Amino acid sequence: MSGFVVKDWCPDAWRPMMAGDGLLVRVRPPLGRLTAPQVEGLGRAAIRHGNGQIDLTSRANLQIRGVSEEGWPALLTELQALGLVDPDPMREGRGVILINPDWREGEDSHAIATELRARLSELPDLPGKVGFVVDAGQAPMLFDAPGDFRIERAATGTLLVRADGRSAGVAISRATAVDALIRLAQWFVDSDGRDARRMARHKADLPDWASGDAMPAMPAPPMRPGAHPMGAVYGLPFGRLDAQALVDRRAPIRLTPWRMLLAEGVAPIPAAGMVLEDTPILHVDACVGAPACPQASVETRELAARLAPLIDGQLHISGCAKGCARARAADWVLTGREGAFDLARHARAGAAPLHTGLTPERAVALLGAC
Ligand code: SF4
Repeated sequence: MSGFVVKDWCPDAWRPMMAGDGLLVRVRPPLGRLTAPQVEGLGRAAIRHGNGQIDLTSRANLQIRGVSEEGWPALLTELQALGLVDPDPMREGRGVILINPDWREGEDSHAIATELRARLSELPDLPGKVGFVVDAGQAPMLFDAPGDFRIERAATGTLLVRADGRSAGVAISRATAVDALIRLAQWFVDSDGRDARRMARHKADLPDWASGDAMPAMPAPPMRPGAHPMGAVYGLPFGRLDAQALVDRRAPIRLTPWRMLLAEGVAPIPAAGMVLEDTPILHVDACVGAPACPQASVETRELAARLAPLIDGQLHISGCAKGCARARAADWVLTGREGAFDLARHARAGAAPLHTGLTPERAVALLGAC
């Protein structure tokens, strides 16, 4: 028995979630981009109503932490005024759209994601964690990013629509892409996909119109911290962003699902709390752990910072078996349980351990010697 609580919904700005450090308010900036005034406004709002700490999630959303129940209504009003939260809670709940962060205005990704946002009311009622990926740049960037219904660049250069968990999809055009996404989402609901909760786990046969052999193009090289044709890419250790750093930034930013943000039109100059090099700390996944999460019995990020330079490969430190910080297997995974850590290899959080009951010191000694 893992002991963690499974929630079949995702918090958003209209439905914040209580964490150990107060309410957690999730913000989904349209097309994953914030203008300079939005960057500054969000930073100020997070300082005024939260604890000044913001998380960048694996779906390229921002989470304002430490918000009081009394402060939440004012925060919500400010976020709406900034254009970062939809005034309609239903639309906000359905706007789970991940887009390749290097999109440019007028290109396929921009056009398709914009149309999908305009047609959210046509979508059926989907489980909270179900979302869309629009990844129509010259080569797919978001292969490993979560998303149930996907638009991607095909190997032939055309576009395709693909159900997550299926290796191939169906060729479509820009004009029919959103129709195909809505139809696929409706089929998911009509074929009892809600029972499986996610498309990749939904084993029903796809309808003929959604079954094809169009293969995605070869993936683009991963984005790295440093100079970028559109500006500068900054790595965020553990996805943590200081709200004051946003206030000081005064430039548009784009969010990525890789704990990095792309600052538009700026040179790669150092910034507090962000890194411009591919350092070991960026290869460690660690959730907030205790005391910020009520389900954690262990501190996670201090230990992660100690272990990062000692580890060869991907390390995941999870406050409990839920594994929020990383859904996939990691080379090394430490899972908190009853105040100590279990260690597993090539596994996900909560997997059968090789060692149990490890203190942080014992974990450092063990992993440092590997
Ligand atoms: S994995 Fe971490 S953040 Fe997620 S519920 Fe467990 S302790 Fe909390």
